[in-house]
Amino acid sequence: MGPPSPNTPLTPSTPSSAASTSTSTSMVPSTAASSASTTTVTTLTTSAFASATTVNTTPRWQGVGFKKWKNIVVIGASVAGHSFVNALQHNLPMSHRIILIERNEFVQHAPIVVRALVVPGWESKNFTAPVAQDTIFPANSRHRVLCPNSVVALKRNHVWLEHEFEGELEIEFERCIIATGAQSPAPIRPAPGASMADWMAGLRKTQNDIKHAESVLIVGGGSVGIEVAGEINETYPRKKVTIVHWDVGLLHPSDSGGNTKHTYVPPKTSSKLSAALQKQLAERGVDIILCDRVDLSAGAWGGSAGLLGEMTAIPLVSGKTVHADYVFNSTGNRPNASLVAQADPDALTTNGYISVDDTFRVQAAPRSPMTGAYYAIGDCANSPSWKTGVAAAAEGQALAAIIDAQIRGNKPRPYAPSRGMRDSTVLLGSKGGAAVLRIPWIGSIRAPDFIVEGKSQDFWAGKNFFSRFHGTRRIPSFA
Ligand SMILES: Cc1cc2nc3c(=O)[nH]c(=O)nc-3n(C[C@H](O)[C@H](O)[C@H](O)COP(=O)(O)OP(=O)(O)OC[C@H]3O[C@@H](n4cnc5c(N)ncnc54)[C@H](O)[C@@H]3O)c2cc1C
Repeated sequence: MGPPSPNTPLTPSTPSSAASTSTSTSMVPSTAASSASTTTVTTLTTSAFASATTVNTTPRWQGVGFKKWKNIVVIGASVAGHSFVNALQHNLPMSHRIILIERNEFVQHAPIVVRALVVPGWESKNFTAPVAQDTIFPANSRHRVLCPNSVVALKRNHVWLEHEFEGELEIEFERCIIATGAQSPAPIRPAPGASMADWMAGLRKTQNDIKHAESVLIVGGGSVGIEVAGEINETYPRKKVTIVHWDVGLLHPSDSGGNTKHTYVPPKTSSKLSAALQKQLAERGVDIILCDRVDLSAGAWGGSAGLLGEMTAIPLVSGKTVHADYVFNSTGNRPNASLVAQADPDALTTNGYISVDDTFRVQAAPRSPMTGAYYAIGDCANSPSWKTGVAAAAEGQALAAIIDAQIRGNKPRPYAPSRGMRDSTVLLGSKGGAAVLRIPWIGSIRAPDFIVEGKSQDFWAGKNFFSRFHGTRRIPSFA
């Protein structure tokens, strides 16, 4: 067993309502601002905005000498935000420009992380991409990437930035898209503001800690917990692995009542998929404890995650005990909605998601600063899908069509998730796993093995991640 490491407290994954406390006013000049655009601005007729009655179309333009574009601000450049930008940019009238803001210097293809957390060497396979003007937009684009930069406050028709853009900390907008995603317990996603070096170091540390553990407890049997269990089992077949999960089967096979305006509830998952994964894991010797939870408050253990330094009795709510010296916390995502909590907590669901209607418009009281010009997509919103990359991309594309229609004075088509949103593939290492497809009137059927094998090659990084980058700079893809 390796040396003890500082343990990370294992906190329950209830959404945070804590307001952002970032008040930094760094004067770092924006590189995006320094590249001049030669685009000619055309004049819009008022009728072009006939349907956008709640949007302020007469913004107070700031700065001297800047083109008077109507800004479409996008917060978050991962799957949802970037998919939206790609779908909107080419048809957007010259009167508008997109400003895409991302706080981390890079984004990553999350599906690969389950292997990069476990298998040495996978952290340095390219599954990340820098967020920059020349990776996102073609040459001479009037649209702008601000990265690394953060939005620190949402106001009616303007946002506040951490670092200046065009000489201002404040950006006025016509529409603002919140695509701030979710945070998972460390080390599953990069911490806010993490550099690439920090992220790589975190992955290597986790690989090393898991390597030195004798018995791994995985708290939470959702897709990330299951896939990490599969990777550990394949890499270290003699290591003991136990999954503790609250539901009657792995994933989420029981019906929890359905999504509402007030509470986000994910659709239930296929019981065929749960059964197939449980069977394979059991055959590989992985222990699965269902209908139970790790008791975070009980015992001398103290609720820590990571390498514990010694074999420890971890109490479960049922009174059972699991002995482990490494705890992997995969208790789910927490929506990154603190900006909205700060601006208007009533625009959140009871479990912390941003409440949106079927055009992704934030639902808030008429006098709320969130009313009218704010939209939310992806993992941060209560839109009616699982919180997956597939759904986030579909929502980005759908919102682009909605906003395009609104700008042109047409009636937008409300969004409804397509049938493909209910397909699902969960890997167990490089040689196992299961997939289901949703067929109309029949329901879920097990998918052929080539679908699992296809995902296992590169976790669909080429198709779903690298294909999003349309800038002039070539990004080295998954190697
Ligand atoms: C380990 C793992 C494996 C997964 N596997 C799969 C899979 O196999 N298939 C699948 O479909 N889905 C998978 N998912 C889910 C998928 O990755 C997410 O659903 C998807 O990333 C959601 O995209 P998003 O753009 O909504 O949010 P995110 O990807 O969370 O991105 C949000 C972005 O917003 C930025 N941001 C946040 N706040 C601010 C701010 N104030 N200012 C500026 N920027 C900000 C963040 O830095 C981040 O880049 C997986 C997730 C994880 C963690």
